[in-house]
Amino acid sequence: MPETKPRVLLLGASVQQSFSVAFQNAGFLAAGLDWRYEAADVAPGRLESVIAEMRQDPGIVGANVTVPHKEAVFPLLDMVDANARLIGAVNTISRAGDRLLGSNTDGAGFMAALRELGFDPAKKTAVIVGAGGAARAVVAALKAHAGLLWVVNRSLARAEQLCRDLAVDRGGALARADLDRVIGTASLLVNATPADIGIDRLPAGSTIYFDLRSRRSSSGRLMLLHQGLASFEIWTGRPAPAAAMRAALALAAQGAAA
Ligand code: NAP
Repeated sequence: MPETKPRVLLLGASVQQSFSVAFQNAGFLAAGLDWRYEAADVAPGRLESVIAEMRQDPGIVGANVTVPHKEAVFPLLDMVDANARLIGAVNTISRAGDRLLGSNTDGAGFMAALRELGFDPAKKTAVIVGAGGAARAVVAALKAHAGLLWVVNRSLARAEQLCRDLAVDRGGALARADLDRVIGTASLLVNATPADIGIDRLPAGSTIYFDLRSRRSSSGRLMLLHQGLASFEIWTGRPAPAAAMRAALALAAQGAAA
């Protein structure tokens, strides 16, 4: 019997334990939609055929895209919006008939999480560690607000490329060795890498540490929630049932910690 429920896929590597499965399904249930959100482990060599299958199956209404496919998916889509093109990464695919559209909700999710934490980045100095897709989304979102933006990365050339692509003109790219030099000036320190950033303690004062890793930090989970709410609204065209999705995420995180 073929699957008839509308489905949204999560395309990535090792995604079976993703918190998104729990909170997106809770969202569909709370919104009264008989939809299913399904994790699909996709090896890099299979991405093209998975996207082709998705295009031909109207029962797949959309997808989230995560590591390592956020950049590779670009040429496989029919259209990518201006924000995702600027960032250089797609995390959300939606469907218009048989056309697949790419967008990116990470930056909006990050800014919504910052707001919820009560932090206003206006004219503040921010230090972002990392220069991959997530760092690009954070820098693109912060750029219009922050005072100085420093992008610190293990490979300096990638940080320099990010600053060129996103036209960062207040601040710039720094090598990892320079982190200690700028950290004392930062009001906002963001870890946009999968690793610890090797800071023993934050400078005293008003520095906020925002760690994007959703399995390691509540700030990362808050961003995950908000990027997921934005994706839900793209797929369904309805307001996301935020309370139900937030509660399901909290439960999933509790379960993972137990
Ligand atoms: P990515 O494109 O693969 O980029 C990874 C970045 O981390 C690169 O700058 C890389 O440096 C750096 N890095 C990797 N391992 C490192 C190490 N051991 N030490 C120092 N730097 C290291 O990944 P991404 O998509 O940007 O994701 C980055 C993190 O953000 C991941 O943990 C991801 O799960 C998280 N994330 C969270 C959310 C959320 O909603 N909470 C959303 C998106 C991403 P090089 O350039 O030198 O290789």
